[in-house]
Amino acid sequence: MHPAAIRYKERLAKMTPEELLAHKEKIKEQYRKRYAKNPEQYRAYKRKYIENNKEKLKERYKQYRLKYKANNYQHLKMFDMTKEQYLEMLEQQNHVYAICGGTDKNKRLAVDHCHTTGVVRGLLCSACNTSLGKFKDSVELLEKAIQYLKDNNGNKPNPIIVKKAPRRRVRSSNSRTL
Ligand SMILES: [Zn+2]
Repeated sequence: MHPAAIRYKERLAKMTPEELLAHKEKIKEQYRKRYAKNPEQYRAYKRKYIENNKEKLKERYKQYRLKYKANNYQHLKMFDMTKEQYLEMLEQQNHVYAICGGTDKNKRLAVDHCHTTGVVRGLLCSACNTSLGKFKDSVELLEKAIQYLKDNNGNKPNPIIVKKAPRRRVRSSNSRTL
């Protein structure tokens, strides 16, 4: 490594987390300003970089994927769940998320469990898992939500119609391939 790069690394290592964050913001801001001055030049530079480093980038991406996959089981440690138990459960679920039925082989599944008993209910995508949490894992509340949707979706006698709010883009797990 270049001596200046080593010095820079040492400087970063001495920073507190707050200082590091501020520093990162500063760099980003500088980059944004430079980019705004001459976007075409930056885009051309980036294209050229990708063109000249195709193999290197491919390899880096491969390593990243492998690392990510290896990490797919890391979260089991905090539940004391074994990889075998996890894979067995996945098998039982036919390798799809238990609620929405989506799949994504590169994504790790959330271990949905009862917070009182610790019983693992199933493996979910993070969206479904978070949603259950937001409904406090309550069957009663979820049933109420279903009833509410049934009662209020369409066929109201005098419906109030508002401007449609733009839907936040949710990446559908269904659209991914296994
Ligand atoms: Zn889901």
